[in-house]
Amino acid sequence: MKVVAGQLGAMISALRQHYGAPELAEPRMPFELIVWENCAYLVDDERREQTYEHLRKAVGIAPQKLLAAGARKIEIAIREGGMQPPHRAAKVLRCAEIALTYADGDLAGTLAAMKAKPQRTLLKRFPGIADPGADRVLLLCGFSKAPALDSNGLRVLERLHVVKPGQAYAAAYRAAIAALVEAGVAGPKAVQAYALLRAHGRELCKRAAPLCALCPLKRTCPSASERTSSRS
Ligand code: SF4
Repeated sequence: MKVVAGQLGAMISALRQHYGAPELAEPRMPFELIVWENCAYLVDDERREQTYEHLRKAVGIAPQKLLAAGARKIEIAIREGGMQPPHRAAKVLRCAEIALTYADGDLAGTLAAMKAKPQRTLLKRFPGIADPGADRVLLLCGFSKAPALDSNGLRVLERLHVVKPGQAYAAAYRAAIAALVEAGVAGPKAVQAYALLRAHGRELCKRAAPLCALCPLKRTCPSASERTSSRS
């Protein structure tokens, strides 16, 4: 059974009842959010936040400060943020260079003066920012009302059959965003949906072993039903 996009609002409401209003730890300014994404790798939010704070206190987050500090100082500041500190430091430094080259050091101001397409083109110059990352920056920093998803949220929507499971990531992502748009998820609702679907993917609808018995969506989720019938 395919879950139609029109049912998404009810699903998101059920997640809201279950999780409340999850707080987003990430900065809500574009350059800061891009540095947040690049300064740590494969760590939880708490460790990412600590790593970002170390960098902020030791060096600062402004592109000029990062460039003046250089790779070695950045590497020392972010070394607790997961694997390959030199590689992560090089990416943070590259972010600073791009912000200075293409936005004169003021990414927020530059984005604010642009239309949607060049905004996306500029954001995709930064390391680690493809279309999903650009959507995230634009939504969370208030430049767009369009929805965004992380990989956790996309996995939830695939398991709910809002999008056909088994597609390539880019196709599944586009279909999921289209379903959210069709369901009228925009602006503050889109920020809330992003946070709730991410929280659900992390806490119950986990990648390897979803905890369906505890899930507020288990009665309507086709994946939960498939698991139940495959065991019986
Ligand atoms: S029932 Fe299971 S598979 Fe479906 S959304 Fe909930 S946790 Fe995920």
